[in-house]
Amino acid sequence: MSDCIFCKIANKEIPATIVYEDQDMIAFNDLEPQAPVHVLLIPKKHIESMDDIKDSDKELIGHIMCKVKEIASKLELENGYRLVGNCGEDGYQTVMHLHFHLLGKRKMTWPPG
Ligand code: AMP
Ligand code: ZN
Repeated sequence: MSDCIFCKIANKEIPATIVYEDQDMIAFNDLEPQAPVHVLLIPKKHIESMDDIKDSDKELIGHIMCKVKEIASKLELENGYRLVGNCGEDGYQTVMHLHFHLLGKRKMTWPPG
């Protein structure tokens, strides 16, 4: 998607601080961190939202989920962390490229805002 900001990050057309990358996904620091560690995990493939995940994306989404603990470990989140996926208007999704927020290094509260 040519006008998608996260596709541009994945294609290195705009800069980001990348903390993990492989052929299918990338993880980079959020521009407006909501915790001392705030990283976004995205597939390199453009998928708009959770609602647009297809059965054929099972392996890709499974791959991202399997990498969470490795990235969390690299970021020294040994005390725990939160993984958040916002979807659609009520979910407060502002960037229409599937992403998961990995937040850590502070005590989270519940319920979320
Ligand atoms: P969401 O509200 O779940 O769609 O989250 C989108 C996230 O993307 C927000 O936390 C933004 O701060 C973050 N964001 C937007 N643009 C950039 C960017 N260029 N680099 C890093 N993070 C970004
Ligand atoms: Zn995209």
